[in-house]
Amino acid sequence: MYETAFSLSVNKVQQSRIGILENQTLEFGKVPSDHMLVAVYKDGNWQEAAIMPYQNLSLAPLTAGFHYGQTIFEGQKAFRRDDGNITIFRLEKHFERFNKSARRMSMPEVPRELFVDGLRQLISVDQDWVIGDPGCSLYVRPFMIASEPCLGVRPSSEYLFMIVTCPVANYFDRPLRLKVETQFVRAVEGGAGAAKCGGNYGAVLLPTEIAKEEGFDQVIWTDGKTNEWIEEAGVMNVMFRIGDSLVTPPVGSTVLEGITRDSIITLARNAGISVEERRIKVDELLSAYDDGLLTEACGIGTAAVIAPIESIRIGERDLTFNVEDMLVDDLKSQLTDIRAGRAEDVHGWNDIIFAG
Ligand SMILES: *Cc1c(COP(=O)(O)O)cnc(C)c1O
Repeated sequence: MYETAFSLSVNKVQQSRIGILENQTLEFGKVPSDHMLVAVYKDGNWQEAAIMPYQNLSLAPLTAGFHYGQTIFEGQKAFRRDDGNITIFRLEKHFERFNKSARRMSMPEVPRELFVDGLRQLISVDQDWVIGDPGCSLYVRPFMIASEPCLGVRPSSEYLFMIVTCPVANYFDRPLRLKVETQFVRAVEGGAGAAKCGGNYGAVLLPTEIAKEEGFDQVIWTDGKTNEWIEEAGVMNVMFRIGDSLVTPPVGSTVLEGITRDSIITLARNAGISVEERRIKVDELLSAYDDGLLTEACGIGTAAVIAPIESIRIGERDLTFNVEDMLVDDLKSQLTDIRAGRAEDVHGWNDIIFAG
């Protein structure tokens, strides 16, 4: 059991539901593990937090978060290592990003003990839900919603911070077919694109559904002013191989600061691969492709680590890419090996919970 100074009451289930994992194909985010963490912010302070059996909430219809989108979240994973212990990947970085999102959305920051220690303790309690099979993990979803029952358009005076977890199975993801989107935009300079807030996700569903009807898996977002610059691939960061360099748009107010992106860049640079974090024009993709320089593309994020892209529609053209033996394949295995405890964690990315 993980020890923490933070006052966190723990009320465990009488009977675990873990048996339901047998003979079940796990749809992402559908099966919660036994427990959840709940903390209440009220009267200007975080009140005591509790780990309790996963259960429904009771909230007033006037609850501010239902109406004005003051909701943020994180998405991270815990893995079963080869030695049986559990790793939470880059916990500190997710904590920092969560509070950055909170500031953007006028929400109170969550104290470190609540986010970091609370998360560790929750996973410790539900450690049996961290499946050890290759590719499996426990998806961890910390989130916060404005919970004051009031329709006034102002920051809420009450919040709920919660953490829920869902076991995820290895899924086979086929290479992505994307189109460069020029009608809809995800984020604009000065907007909330850098925050992991609910509204950003609500707004990308329609463009994504339209792209799916047209036979694509996702869109590649372009900038909100000119639609000439590449930003992200759906809700993942995007990376291209141009010549022998990996090129990816810089993070900022319109490109979310992906933690997987940061990890892959670090591993690439360590391996002596040149990485350029710079703006990329849609036109540059076309000309580099025609010159034979643009040979690979991928999406990068916690869900898939690296999702190979097999084609990109730009206007009337289809660029197609090699998805075998990609330059990033080795970086993906390095990342996977670090998490599994098979490779040395030189960057201190793993937060280890000793199982038992
Ligand atoms: C979460 C997210 C990413 C990926 O971030 P990771 O930390 O690597 O999971 C990229 N783009 C958007 C818009 C996101 O919300």
